[in-house]
Amino acid sequence: MFKVINIDDMKAENTNQDVEVEKVKCLIIGSGPAGYTAAIYAARANMSPVMYEGLQPGGQLTTTTEVENFPGYPEGVTGPVMMEDLKAQAVRFGTDIRWGLATKVDFSGPVHKVWIDETKVVESEVVILATGATAKYLGIDDEKKYAGSGVSACATCDGFFYRGKDVAVVGGGDTAAEEAIYLAGLVNKVYLIVRRNELRASKVMQDRVLKTKNIEVLWEHQTKALTGDGVVEGAILWKKKGTSEEEEVSIKIDGFFLAIGHKPNSDFVKDFIDTDEVGYIKTIPGTAKTNVAGVFACGDVQDSQYRQAVTAAGSGCMAAIDAERYLSEKHS
Ligand code: NDP
Repeated sequence: MFKVINIDDMKAENTNQDVEVEKVKCLIIGSGPAGYTAAIYAARANMSPVMYEGLQPGGQLTTTTEVENFPGYPEGVTGPVMMEDLKAQAVRFGTDIRWGLATKVDFSGPVHKVWIDETKVVESEVVILATGATAKYLGIDDEKKYAGSGVSACATCDGFFYRGKDVAVVGGGDTAAEEAIYLAGLVNKVYLIVRRNELRASKVMQDRVLKTKNIEVLWEHQTKALTGDGVVEGAILWKKKGTSEEEEVSIKIDGFFLAIGHKPNSDFVKDFIDTDEVGYIKTIPGTAKTNVAGVFACGDVQDSQYRQAVTAAGSGCMAAIDAERYLSEKHS
């Protein structure tokens, strides 16, 4: 076993005498499909992984209902059950899974330091970052009220349930355009709710949106409220809010899709790890390696393109294999 805990020795080195220090071989931060898959591979490779689950154990999938596009579940599975399955598999091979939030890191030395809840420092030879991304929401109360009952932030995950129905997509960027076009192939009608009088999306995506017959763009509209008895049945919108022409508009919809961007959960590592301008961690193409040796990234925190459970799981596998090879070379 490689896990060594020597709290007393380490405390002496630390300026804050109250902070507990623990040494581990492999630390995984985040518990979505990427983190659990990394844990399964790392545990089976005798790396004794320790995982901190973060604020939302199980990740974004725990907020979805039915998952029908993850291979291996021919009848579909709910998001929370799938994450429990992945967790059980990681635990079966010995992953040490703990509650706790990584708040700060120091990746300047050969041993990587991660602060957990500001009360403990974990020192690890390798760190796998699997902290995911958080979909942005408008911030209106009805988004919470109808979460999982008509409100979704992932058309690819949930669009199928609205076949033949009318839905709305909020946003004017490439994600909104892509999701509106995807949904238009499944549903009866898509309202694209755009707050300005132009789209931010690339020209080619704009053209596709405007050419798709069953997409109606509602220019200069913002969402005031959602309506419905237990599930979304409609939305009340402001047209030209804040102008002399302001008016309220009601639409009948069964699904309300947010596509106003995602925020990768990378703020706590940004002093050491290279990210793009949005905050997605940059990995060396074809690997899970970051700019810091021994620190790897997988899942949505490094993926602005696919953001699927199965691609996250695949990249979690890559991260564990890259980490294992890094340790083998280091100790050879
Ligand atoms: P963006 O930040 O590009 O766009 C967000 C959109 O949501 C904007 O139209 C913005 O409006 C709107 N918005 C933001 N907040 C609100 C709000 N509170 N109320 C109403 N509307 C709001 O995010 P995306 O996720 O679309 O794209 C992120 C990045 O990923 C981009 O660089 C994009 O090009 C890229 N991407 C590329 C794809 C591809 O190449 N296939 C596919 C998807 C994304 P406003 O314009 O007024 O600010």
